[in-house]
Amino acid sequence: MSDWAVPLTRTTVGQEEAQAAARVLISGWLTQGAEVAAFESEFAAQLRLPFAAAVASCTLGLELSYAAVGVRPGDEVIVPGLTFVATANAARRLGARPVFADITSESDLSVDFEDVIAKLTTRTRAVAIMHYGGFAARVSELRARLQATGYGQLPILEDCAHAPGAHSEDGSCGGLGTIGVFSFFGNKNMTTGEGGMITASTRALDEAVRELRTHGLSTSTWERHRRRALSYDVLQVGTNAKLDEVRAAIGRAQLNKLLAANRRRAQVRAWYEVGIQERGDLLAKLTVPYLGWQRRVGAESAHHLMVVLLPQGCAREAVMVRLHAAGIQTSVHYPPLHRLSCNLDLPPVTLPRLESTAPRLLTLPLSPFMTKVDIARVLDELSAALR
Ligand SMILES: *Cc1c(COP(=O)(O)O)cnc(C)c1O
Repeated sequence: MSDWAVPLTRTTVGQEEAQAAARVLISGWLTQGAEVAAFESEFAAQLRLPFAAAVASCTLGLELSYAAVGVRPGDEVIVPGLTFVATANAARRLGARPVFADITSESDLSVDFEDVIAKLTTRTRAVAIMHYGGFAARVSELRARLQATGYGQLPILEDCAHAPGAHSEDGSCGGLGTIGVFSFFGNKNMTTGEGGMITASTRALDEAVRELRTHGLSTSTWERHRRRALSYDVLQVGTNAKLDEVRAAIGRAQLNKLLAANRRRAQVRAWYEVGIQERGDLLAKLTVPYLGWQRRVGAESAHHLMVVLLPQGCAREAVMVRLHAAGIQTSVHYPPLHRLSCNLDLPPVTLPRLESTAPRLLTLPLSPFMTKVDIARVLDELSAALR
């Protein structure tokens, strides 16, 4: 699979997914139909969310969701400065302008609500948040602050790419804001290769994204195949963002494994925290965002990423090269969005906390299959690299 001794991540895909895909391939129906419908209802039930609509990717799901909550050309959308570029690109694709907001702190890398409030204007059409690393952002607090400033009606979009199965004290990620979008890309907690899920908070929004994902058609090919309809009208200019039956079947098998895999991830995270606390040098040099979060907050993270902050001024590339030479794969989540070439045409913005934190970000390996031995190997090597 890979030549890493400790890869950044590993999927839980196996025989179950292979059999599910084969079952669909020989069934004679490959595009959106009964498997997609079953995947959607099982996803909604398992995560205790009212609605779920499968899409071809989280990125397309974000675009459809922004459109469904009313984002139009010229609008502003407040977006975390620290997220994957798709959170902002999806708004830009609609002709809207992302306004980037800072991180909360070194220990909470999700978007700072203070900064969100400061950046509201009459052109703001939506606020996007991202549950960084799988740790639920405090959406009810954001809602309360928006209400207190007279922006209570503003839609909150949750980018849940890191957070399938995660919840805060208030409920499941994907059900905390106005609309949520999950990713089933290959490196996420559950995968269909490519794919995503939109979880709307109301039936009207759910219907809106379903119509958008199917060209704006009034009836689907599946409904016509099932003799439920003979023809169709096109109600609005939509797109094709459908998930196919093979991926939906793989997704159903992955969903069966999600919560157990997330529990393994929580165990791995706990081993990391203990391992760092046992190594005095690492404890002194590293900052660990969300340290002790699970105990403190009483919520459940999906533990998508194991992120640490290197010491200020540390040569991150040298550390990564050294770890990679030892077979330990690392990454960086993410280069700040406001500094990417594609965003240099936007009005310049300074995000002081993100700018001082971003060069220190390092993502260590995390998968449900990691052992205590793997973690000792990673931490010993990191310790040596920082000496
Ligand atoms: C992976 C990811 C996406 C994009 O998901 P795709 O399914 O690959 O389109 C969006 N946002 C975040 C935070 C992600 O991690």
